[in-house]
Amino acid sequence: MVASTFNTSRSQAVFKRAKELMPGGVSSPVRAFKSVGGEPVVFDRVAGAYAYDIDGNRYIDYIGTWGPAIVGHAHPEVIEAIQQAATKGTSFGAPSVLENQLAEMVIAAVPSIEMVRFVNSGTEACMSVLRLMRAFTGRDKVIKFEGCYHGHGDMFLVQAGSGVATLGLPDSPGVPKSVTANTLTAPYNDLEAVKALFEANPDTIAGVILEPVVGNAGFIMPQPGFLEGLRALTQQYGALLVFDEVMTGFRIAYGGAQAKFGVTPDLTCLGKIIGGGLPVGAYGGRREIMEMVAPAGSVYQAGTLSGNPLAMTAGIKTLEILQRPGTYEYLENITAKLSQGMLQVARETGHAATGGHLSAMFGLFFTDRPVHNYSDAKTSNLAKFSKFHRGMLERGVYLAPSQFEAGFTSLAHTEADVEATLAAMREVLSQIEP
Ligand SMILES: *Cc1c(COP(=O)(O)O)cnc(C)c1O
Repeated sequence: MVASTFNTSRSQAVFKRAKELMPGGVSSPVRAFKSVGGEPVVFDRVAGAYAYDIDGNRYIDYIGTWGPAIVGHAHPEVIEAIQQAATKGTSFGAPSVLENQLAEMVIAAVPSIEMVRFVNSGTEACMSVLRLMRAFTGRDKVIKFEGCYHGHGDMFLVQAGSGVATLGLPDSPGVPKSVTANTLTAPYNDLEAVKALFEANPDTIAGVILEPVVGNAGFIMPQPGFLEGLRALTQQYGALLVFDEVMTGFRIAYGGAQAKFGVTPDLTCLGKIIGGGLPVGAYGGRREIMEMVAPAGSVYQAGTLSGNPLAMTAGIKTLEILQRPGTYEYLENITAKLSQGMLQVARETGHAATGGHLSAMFGLFFTDRPVHNYSDAKTSNLAKFSKFHRGMLERGVYLAPSQFEAGFTSLAHTEADVEATLAAMREVLSQIEP
């Protein structure tokens, strides 16, 4: 596709009406493209590595519905499994064999999880895990990191990443100070800051929650020793370590970042991939902690549609596909090609950029310094990113509409897709002032 023939008139008409019907025209903020200016495109369908808008434009998609689409959009086996499951009903509100099946797969895969509870979103998983952390330790405070996103629960909307960072929102109105007073924050990759918080708040910190590899402030790797250091500190202070692997679970490795880095938290949040594109979240961990959850224990948490058969089925089939030989090698190789290619194109066209990848997750910041935390990420040239994003969109490449989001690849992305992406990037970056 060439930029000069790019037409989105149908998308524009639909989105104009959407803005009258729904706040900002969307059901979730970052979809609105506000941070990069310009209007979003309206999708008609997705398949494999591609998204198609209602004007007939095709995009190589590096958002993958924000994480779930790791085997490729609308994978024929996943769709068929969902169709078959649907003939038996869409919701039981009663136990099903499918819940056991997905639970067995999750427990077998994720080192920290001995028992699991299914919920309907990552937000719900994080909210529920926080209640459990507090109940188990009898302490109220929690440490999170600047730029990390743990869903939109009140107590996590402090220095949050994702849409909060993308839109530059302050802590959201409507969140009482009494709630966030118990949320302590530290810069990512800064063990000393975490230590200082523990020292200043003796016996009141329930635990530390983090993205073990950050995706919601852009792609940021944990520095060597950071995850290990958090494991040691939490143990020393009688607090819990919680990995929010809603994004990284089954993406960084089949067993998540905890399997990749060999650091086992007490509790883990999951979502996105384990629902195979249907709404699912989960939290799990050590048996003695999980047995506090109702009705085994007294920590209340419930859900009408939790564990519903369609979502369980999509998750089971997606994990089955991921278990096949060579999948993670493929994801690593294709993503390495893309990420290294992007850095090379930036260099060749004279743009300061830094970035990297791990398995099927990647990032690129337009800054001349290494990015180890959210403050570093914020040194990026956002005006340049906006132009870059629009240029890529016009050439059929769908990137997250924010400097503060990671990119995702899938088993459906091919070398030809990567080459087309890099060619588009070379064209776009040569037309932008360095
Ligand atoms: C997406 C995400 C969430 C929130 O999940 P939703 O399903 O959008 O509620 C929480 N934590 C992390 C790390 C995420 O990436």
